[in-house]
Amino acid sequence: MDALVSLSKRRGFIFQSSEIYGGAGSCWDYGPLGVELKQNIKRVWWRDYVQRRPDMMGLDASILMHPTVWKASGHVDNFTDPMVDCLECRRRFRADKVDETPWVHYCPATKGNKFTISAGEPCSHCGVTRTLCPECGKGELTPPRQFNLMFKTFMGPVEEDASLTYLRPETAQGIFVNFDNVLQSMRRKLPFGIAQIGKAFRNEITPGNFIFRTREFEQMEIEFFVNPLETVDGRPADEYWHERWIEDSMAWFRRYGLSEENLRLREHAADELAHYAKRTADIEYHFPIGWSELMGIANRTDFDLKQHAKFSGKALTYFDEERKEHVVPYVIEPSAGVDRALLAFLADAYREEEVRGEKRVVLRLHPELAPLKVAVLPLLKKREDIVRTAHAIRDELSKDWTVVYDDTAAIGRLYRRQDEVGTPYCVTVDVQTVGDPAKGEIGDRKVTIRDRDSMEQIRVPLDQLGPLFRELFGGATWGGVAGRFGAN
Ligand SMILES: [Zn+2]
Ligand SMILES: [Zn+2]
Repeated sequence: MDALVSLSKRRGFIFQSSEIYGGAGSCWDYGPLGVELKQNIKRVWWRDYVQRRPDMMGLDASILMHPTVWKASGHVDNFTDPMVDCLECRRRFRADKVDETPWVHYCPATKGNKFTISAGEPCSHCGVTRTLCPECGKGELTPPRQFNLMFKTFMGPVEEDASLTYLRPETAQGIFVNFDNVLQSMRRKLPFGIAQIGKAFRNEITPGNFIFRTREFEQMEIEFFVNPLETVDGRPADEYWHERWIEDSMAWFRRYGLSEENLRLREHAADELAHYAKRTADIEYHFPIGWSELMGIANRTDFDLKQHAKFSGKALTYFDEERKEHVVPYVIEPSAGVDRALLAFLADAYREEEVRGEKRVVLRLHPELAPLKVAVLPLLKKREDIVRTAHAIRDELSKDWTVVYDDTAAIGRLYRRQDEVGTPYCVTVDVQTVGDPAKGEIGDRKVTIRDRDSMEQIRVPLDQLGPLFRELFGGATWGGVAGRFGAN
């Protein structure tokens, strides 16, 4: 994790928010390369799940909603964590996590000497277990109290209860309250899904682990509505679609580079299920901090639509033409965090390799996710014709892809820099490309393309650069195209 945090800062992926003021708790800013990576994740997700599927549509609901939404959804009453406070140092802890951190202890058996003891273990001198505040080791802790995780704010100029509302803690409710709008305006038949990407906010008491748990985060959520009266392949439609979405979601993460051995499915046990959920499965990823949730896929039944119908007084039903009756659809909810996905892709792509006795750091990101697609590098920056050609190549390729020009170091160093940020291909312009007019030599109008993963190089005519990259970024492999060109 330290290597990822350090690389992220050094190479412009992720900065701490408000760093010059000492930082804002667990808030992070995406730098020039981070924002490209994040946009790419969102773009391929949207393309794969909305653009390419006939049964899906998109939505972009507002972050601020009518406060009753959060009454209906259960967030006002239930979106809470039990907290305990230290009466001495005033620090606040999640009651269920307080024994998961090392604890400070002034041991009576050693004249009150201060020890820091591993989480959950007793003192090896006096044998007591932790009862006081784990941070200061002195204060009594209060009994657990419920603390709501929603950020409160006020709509309009008056800060009074009547104008109290919340920053949305999930994007899902924006979809539920628009169910009928989408149904009517788009004339849909079940099953169909509504997808949304957007920010959500949770006032987590113990955020942390870099961008794994943050108070402001971005979600990619789908609510997939199915007819509970129907069966597919001999199973209730909701169960069939739940299974399909679990498989699709798993396959999606694998397609963009997460390795098989770092992914697993975890079923929620009956006592862990939300009261409205029929079944929930988490896709877990083997993060640097251990196995943790990457996304959840829940069968939320008809709970949400029924709640909103009850609180709003509007019918949120679907008319089943075949059976001539109104039904409340069941909902399958595949819900992923953009920031968490980004962390997983970064972690999986990160490699430290040894190349001819030197360490090479490389991000083996999927080409579609890589923040920069191509780097154009002049071999000699003093040769005006080489530099001019390199700029012209960058200008041409950047019509289609994110391409950079860099001449701030020697070629070996430039390659390493691009490896470190995951740029799949480098294009090098050299003397051979442009020739040497002083000697009356004309160039061969070819450039060197270097592949990030194999470090192989091929020589490609300038006029074939565009078509070649179109193939490579369209899914062709390096091995499949490199053979057509001569090695460098
Ligand atoms: Zn304390
Ligand atoms: Zn002790």
